[in-house]
Amino acid sequence: MYHQVGDFKNIRTLKANYCHYKRFARQMAMLRLTRQCVIPMSEASRFLAGEGDYPDRCVAITFDDGYENFYHFAFPVLKKYNLPAMVYVVTGQLSGRSEWLKEDGHEPKALMSAEQIRDIYTNGIEIGSHSVTHPRLAGLDADECFNELRQSKHDLEELLAGAVIDHVCYPYGSFNDEVSRLAGKAGYRVGTTTVKGLALPDQNLLALSRKAVSFNDGMLKTWKNIHRL
Ligand SMILES: [Zn+2]
Repeated sequence: MYHQVGDFKNIRTLKANYCHYKRFARQMAMLRLTRQCVIPMSEASRFLAGEGDYPDRCVAITFDDGYENFYHFAFPVLKKYNLPAMVYVVTGQLSGRSEWLKEDGHEPKALMSAEQIRDIYTNGIEIGSHSVTHPRLAGLDADECFNELRQSKHDLEELLAGAVIDHVCYPYGSFNDEVSRLAGKAGYRVGTTTVKGLALPDQNLLALSRKAVSFNDGMLKTWKNIHRL
């Protein structure tokens, strides 16, 4: 799980929100050089659902929020190494900013435009929903929660004509049984959380664990992330 990739200095809080672009490039090089099995999130979810025959451990790369810095710093590196990735987009904030970072005293950052999202999608990046307004879904009443989930799916399917959006990532990792049930009702098949751990076949496909890549993580830490529970 990544969020922002860019030129950051001295990140002391929300470390899982930032990755320096040089570190990111080294991490992606490590995945290739050590021949990790890196697969698209859509494929990983089929594996987790028990379909198909896969190697023992696979990696799926995800980016929350859809930052413009993904477009400038991460996308070229992913292309260079031919690595698949999933980007979760806040559909009510296309060309907007991540205003929600203010509550933690962090500067809001630019989010990708509709054109940029279309561009990465046509270049093989997978797109999932990260709601319409980036709320804490578990704190909403059922109707509001369902509307956030359903509307963002609709927005993305309209933006990416012909796409079926069936992946969602819960903002702030805010979810519970009811939120994942409503995600299923809204038409999602796969949901990702911020619960730390490997995504395993016995998990609810609508509540998958992930591992955050933190600001200070070197290549060794990234490798350990993949190979340890
Ligand atoms: Zn988010």
